Amino acid sequence: MARYTGPSCRLCRREGQKLYLKGERCYSDKCAVSKRGYAPGQHGQGRKKLSNYGLQLREKQKAKRYYGLLETQFRKYFDRAETLAGITGENLLRLLETRLDNVVYRMGFGTSRKEARQLVRHGHFTVNGKKVDIPSYEVSVGDVIKVKEKSVSSPKFKEMAEAATTVPKWIETNSENLEGKVVSLPVREDVDLPILEHLIVELYSR
Ligand code: SF4
Repeated sequence: MARYTGPSCRLCRREGQKLYLKGERCYSDKCAVSKRGYAPGQHGQGRKKLSNYGLQLREKQKAKRYYGLLETQFRKYFDRAETLAGITGENLLRLLETRLDNVVYRMGFGTSRKEARQLVRHGHFTVNGKKVDIPSYEVSVGDVIKVKEKSVSSPKFKEMAEAATTVPKWIETNSENLEGKVVSLPVREDVDLPILEHLIVELYSR
């Protein structure tokens, strides 16, 4: 599946806030948003107040960028969210959160979703005992995500699992076994990202 391969920091600068796309660098004084807190490009410093449409567009772009998706992929999630029972915006966030790359990141493997995605692509994880190397794989309640037997010997996975401090309550982790179980589906309060999902719904409903 296609993915954005350009500079990550540019995306944060465009959104005017840290999206934490580069792991440790994001917490250092090398962060581009800290150094140049204005949008990139010739007119980056001269942008005016946003219209309603502009606000909705920026919110969608921000959500896309948090999860590392391109427009078509994101739109598919939205279309699916619309067909599900419940609130569309919350359905959308739930679908995004239950992507395997995000779950792996939430479990503490990878300093960013981008790194977690790469770990998945490289086949380091199993779901219910079967190797899964598809970042968009959607996990369900009861699924057990585990570091593959061959990768367990690598100390980096152990270190990452032990350093994980903010695993959401919908994933129950066992840092000894390097595994996590999805005990429930994430609800809105579980998604700690500053996304105003109703603006995304409004944008796509135009
Ligand atoms: Fe964004 Fe991280 Fe780059 Fe800062 S260092 S601009 S938070 S990707």
